[in-house]
Amino acid sequence: MIKQNLHTHSIYCDGKDSIDEMVQTAIDKGFTILGFSGHGPCRYDSVAMKEEDLTKYIEDILDAKEKYKDKIQIFLGIEEDISQRIPSKKPYDFVIGSEHFLIEKGEVLNVDYSDEHTKKIVETFDHDFHQYAKAYYEGLQKIAEYDEVDIVGHLDLLMKFNEDQKYGSFTDPVYLSYAKECIDVLIAAGKIFEINTGAIARGYRKDPYPHQTLLSYIQKKKGNILLSSDCHDRNNLDCHFKESMELIQACGFDSMMVLTSEGFKKTPIEQFAR
Ligand SMILES: [Zn+2]
Ligand SMILES: [Zn+2]
Repeated sequence: MIKQNLHTHSIYCDGKDSIDEMVQTAIDKGFTILGFSGHGPCRYDSVAMKEEDLTKYIEDILDAKEKYKDKIQIFLGIEEDISQRIPSKKPYDFVIGSEHFLIEKGEVLNVDYSDEHTKKIVETFDHDFHQYAKAYYEGLQKIAEYDEVDIVGHLDLLMKFNEDQKYGSFTDPVYLSYAKECIDVLIAAGKIFEINTGAIARGYRKDPYPHQTLLSYIQKKKGNILLSSDCHDRNNLDCHFKESMELIQACGFDSMMVLTSEGFKKTPIEQFAR
């Protein structure tokens, strides 16, 4: 059975564990595929890797790939913020494209940061959550222009602090129209959407990104998905995986994407561990 996670952070950025510790935990938890995705250099992000860290990061993962090759398949990836230049795919096996930052009225706004900061973001958009959502999804949609990017990171990240829907309803038609337009463009460009459980592990949300309404829309439009934990602590490497597999099947998906040495392959859902 396949058990895969391609969204994994380590001490090279804001994760708690070394590459080796993370690999050992993945093996203990029965993972067959583990991809690392440290935050690529980003001038707005103090916890992102620095240019000068990259050589060591790459070496460390390639060493682990060789050392553990009989136990688990390891892939070298990176999570790039689309506010930055996205470098060529080499030497990476895969690239996650995410939008953590928005620039509005000369201010750098961090979508991922805190409830307090989210309030400030909405204020910056003239107290209009729709304007924020429009800007967020129009930005995210630009991933379609980058051939280097394989996976769209945490699609509806802007809803991180909106569990109680105080900023806006998950099913508001205006909000959904922006999200759906973005999804259409990304599907047409062949991008893969992740079902991301990272905010559950950290106590912000009860369900993975994206919200079920958007997940069902992706299914209806025949978009490709994979499951990932956006792991920053090895204890959460498969956080909420069992429940998410049930959700994925309840939404009607019959396949998920798997990274192989020949690239991504669409794989029947029955082949994944529950
Ligand atoms: Zn991210
Ligand atoms: Zn991440």
